[in-house]
Amino acid sequence: MSPMSNSGNLVPLFEKNAFDETHTDVGRLLQLSSQLQTSLDIDSILTEFSEDIQSLLAHDHLGYEHATQGIVFAVGKSARHKLSYQLTVNDEVLGTLFISRRRKFKPEESRLLENLLCALLYPLRNALLYHSALTAAHKDPLTGTGNRAAFNEALKREIELAQRHQRSLGMIVIDIDHFKAINDTYGHTVGDCLLKTMANCANNTIRLSDQLFRYGGEEFVVLLPETDDKGVKRLADRIRRNIAAMDNVCEGEHIRMTASFGVATLRKDEDGEALFARADQALYQAKKDGRNCTRIAQ
Ligand code: GH3
Ligand code: MG
Ligand code: MG
Repeated sequence: MSPMSNSGNLVPLFEKNAFDETHTDVGRLLQLSSQLQTSLDIDSILTEFSEDIQSLLAHDHLGYEHATQGIVFAVGKSARHKLSYQLTVNDEVLGTLFISRRRKFKPEESRLLENLLCALLYPLRNALLYHSALTAAHKDPLTGTGNRAAFNEALKREIELAQRHQRSLGMIVIDIDHFKAINDTYGHTVGDCLLKTMANCANNTIRLSDQLFRYGGEEFVVLLPETDDKGVKRLADRIRRNIAAMDNVCEGEHIRMTASFGVATLRKDEDGEALFARADQALYQAKKDGRNCTRIAQ
């Protein structure tokens, strides 16, 4: 753990003088640490840490960032005077923690925070490990998009939201045309390269609120919250045209590909399975109609 914006030396966790000075004690730290250990949720751990240290070290705001895991957390409103710490355990970077308030911090308060942060380190490290395991379990390693498990969870969540707020939900099912022939002609490495370009192209075409998943093999699904029939069809056709227009260079070969699209929007009282089945049926129709086209579910 190293201070970023203050120059105080790091006080070892159980150094007696430090506790005398800062009126904290080992028992209190151990209690805080074991309390934080009961959760693996990063937000809950940081909220609890902020609440628990408030009586010892008053602050208006506590923030936390972990760049590589893409985690940003804050409670309270950021204020003028700030203490920042780069959190590390045995050279392992655990992110950056800030606390701020309107009143200036005294040097002994910065030392107190360093002590208190020791109670946070291991619970936070466990929560980060859990978070990255969960993320990996939901990610397709080849394309970096969400996988089937992520799709199932997102679909459930989006359907609940759409039904609760009476909003539309669109779905696009995409399947690359004659992909087996591409693999047979150019090999699997080229096939894999095309799957990545396909995912990039779809990701660059959809809006920020839309989510792309690799359903399996050469099939992808897009979920489009708050999008009606026309909007879903328009977006599917835009992705389709962009894919067909790309000159893909894989392993030195210039290869073109097309894909077929089935689209559907959520009906009242429909579940995820039924919605997917209709979009998939529309995709089947697009294949039957000659491929490189979009068909709308009945
Ligand atoms: P259609 O136009 O009817 O969709 O024909 P298709 O050849 O695309 O469909 P088919 O289902 O016959 O073949 C899909 C192929 O996708 C077969 C499989 O080897 C290939 N495939 C599935 N997953 C991967 C992968 O991760 N990498 C590569 N390179 N190929 C894959
Ligand atoms: Mg397929
Ligand atoms: Mg296919």
